[in-house]
Amino acid sequence: MLDLTGKKALVTGIANNRSIAWGIAQQLHKAGANLGITYLPDDRGRMEKKVAELVDPLNPSLFLPCNVQDEIQIQSAFEAIRSQWGKLDILIHCLAFANKEDLSGGISDTSRSGFSQAMDISTYSLIQLSKEAKPLMQEGGSIVTLTYLGGVRVVPNYNVMGIAKAGLEASVRYLAAELGPQNIRVNAISAGPIRTLASSAVGGILDMIHHVEEVAPLRRTVTQMEVGNAVAFLCSDLASGITGQVLYVDAGYEIMGM
Ligand code: NAD
Repeated sequence: MLDLTGKKALVTGIANNRSIAWGIAQQLHKAGANLGITYLPDDRGRMEKKVAELVDPLNPSLFLPCNVQDEIQIQSAFEAIRSQWGKLDILIHCLAFANKEDLSGGISDTSRSGFSQAMDISTYSLIQLSKEAKPLMQEGGSIVTLTYLGGVRVVPNYNVMGIAKAGLEASVRYLAAELGPQNIRVNAISAGPIRTLASSAVGGILDMIHHVEEVAPLRRTVTQMEVGNAVAFLCSDLASGITGQVLYVDAGYEIMGM
């Protein structure tokens, strides 16, 4: 049975009720996990307020600011986990960023700074957060990140984010090999296109979604809740033999040649 009772789960990447991380948080909560939620703070505290209201029904026992480009925020977030939970069982890495101008047109126009920022936030952050999680996962653990087909195939306009996702999927394999002896499993879910704040920055996202609805074996795209279900599975003992993998939750689109 899928049971996460007593598990301490840190979920990053909730911005609003469309976020994939919101679907994940709800499913982990439903499975019995105790949640810690991080949000990306802004100057006016608007994100803090919005995310706090949204996640309130899930009774998170930790609610922390964490901009992954800010070393001090990362350290204080994990210090709070150490002092209040004393351990971590589940880490959900569900965040990414690239400049809107780098998500259309040609990849050869990508600026050095845009490339570095996309890689730093979307890829390096998994390595950085895993490093902090490792000492807290003495009883083993599960780390799950979110990727997209554009990391292994060319998807129009996905551009620099495709390169970031390729690096992310390679990071999953290297982290899985390093952390496996400590019984920490590291996997990625490759989700089909879903309308969210982040995906709306990708040029032609609605056309991508319509294309998937026409071509995918299930003739539709997927929901945040379906992704959340697969994440809950990967975090549970039912998936105890699975690590270093990319699991497609995309209504089957990935298998199609045409
Ligand atoms: P979203 O906009 O709801 O979530 C992106 C999150 O990244 C936001 O919560 C944002 O606050 C966070 N973020 C951005 N910069 C950050 C930083 N410096 N520090 C901390 N957090 C930061 O969009 P989403 O689609 O739910 O994206 C979540 C993940 O799912 C991303 O990795 C995305 O690439 C991946 N994904 C999305 C789709 C899709 O179609 N929506 C498909 C496959 C994979």
